[in-house]
Amino acid sequence: VAGAVGALSEVLGDAQRAAGATERLMELLEVQSPISSPAAPLKLPPRRANGAALTLDHVTFHYPSRPLTPALSRLSVAIDAGETVAIVGPSGAGKTTLFQLLLRFYDPQEGAIELDGIDIRQLDLHTLRDTIGIVPQDTVIFSANAMENIRYGRPGASDAEVIAAAKMAAAHEFIERLPEGYRSFLGERGVRLSGGQRQRIAIARALLKNPPLLLLDEATSALDAESERLVQGALEAAMVGRTTLVIAHRLATVQRADRIIVMEHGRIVESGTHASLVAAGGLYAGLAALQFGHA
Ligand code: ATP
Repeated sequence: VAGAVGALSEVLGDAQRAAGATERLMELLEVQSPISSPAAPLKLPPRRANGAALTLDHVTFHYPSRPLTPALSRLSVAIDAGETVAIVGPSGAGKTTLFQLLLRFYDPQEGAIELDGIDIRQLDLHTLRDTIGIVPQDTVIFSANAMENIRYGRPGASDAEVIAAAKMAAAHEFIERLPEGYRSFLGERGVRLSGGQRQRIAIARALLKNPPLLLLDEATSALDAESERLVQGALEAAMVGRTTLVIAHRLATVQRADRIIVMEHGRIVESGTHASLVAAGGLYAGLAALQFGHA
């Protein structure tokens, strides 16, 4: 495809028009190559007590519609089972793209992503997505009661399991105080939850799923101090016994991380602890000063 792109630009001799044409070409290609499970998927090794190891080996990826702009460029990183890694970087650095590739919403054009030593393209797609829990920035609350909203994390879980997850996620107390407790109807036509409450529902879902790999996209929206404290506590509970990658927006998160990875233009430009990166005075130090008011 790279050859075709090059040839097309030469023929047209007009970069702008070539870019437009290749965009459409790539979109067509994408329709014809949907992500699917391999015919003979491999099995993951038995789960370890501290989660899954994750390796990215020279991962290069561009979105089908933007063939000339890689969102990730030769990205390599090895993350140990049980590690908590915070990912920071300016807007457009590729943080969200990385999560999308881990979930196989897209495959990289070059390089490989391995979970416990197995290329994720060799895994059954459902197995892969069952292995990964996600706490998104904006949690979707369904038009259903609180019990069902949390059970969505693992359909088939018992009421007792849902309640245990809610307790760990610091969601139990506020749910109990709703007019009909766990039977209270949530969503547009039901009880409207606060941002912090929605996040704790999302964490409860992830805890119920109990995945070896957890992806957190921390909310940027400000929470009141009490809600913030509860969410932080819930996140800490959620990270125990698994590998966690968090797109970090909060000082508490980066300070607690085993390692911070700083991304820019689809590459890792720095990594280390909060203290070491602040001392280094590079990109992270500047971002931290802006984002956390902490230099
Ligand atoms: P932010 O902090 O703003 O969420 P980010 O670090 O998560 O940014 P990404 O969303 O991963 O960055 O974006 C990386 C690059 O890929 C950017 O140049 C972005 O414009 C581009 N991009 C993201 N999503 C798509 C898409 N669906 N199609 C085409 N390009 C995209």
